[in-house]
Amino acid sequence: MRCPRCNGLMITDRFQDLQDSTGHIHFYGTRCLVCGEVLDPMILENREKRRLARVH
Ligand SMILES: [Zn+2]
Repeated sequence: MRCPRCNGLMITDRFQDLQDSTGHIHFYGTRCLVCGEVLDPMILENREKRRLARVH
């Protein structure tokens, strides 16, 4: 898999979301070794929730 941002090599990695109020959450996503871009549906969803939370 190639990074959509820099076309670098991407690997599957395990992430830990410490900002979630429910506790530690582990999930798997895809991370770019070159620029650090992370692709994961959960991250995108959380970003959207936080963005909406600030608006309201
Ligand atoms: Zn990249």
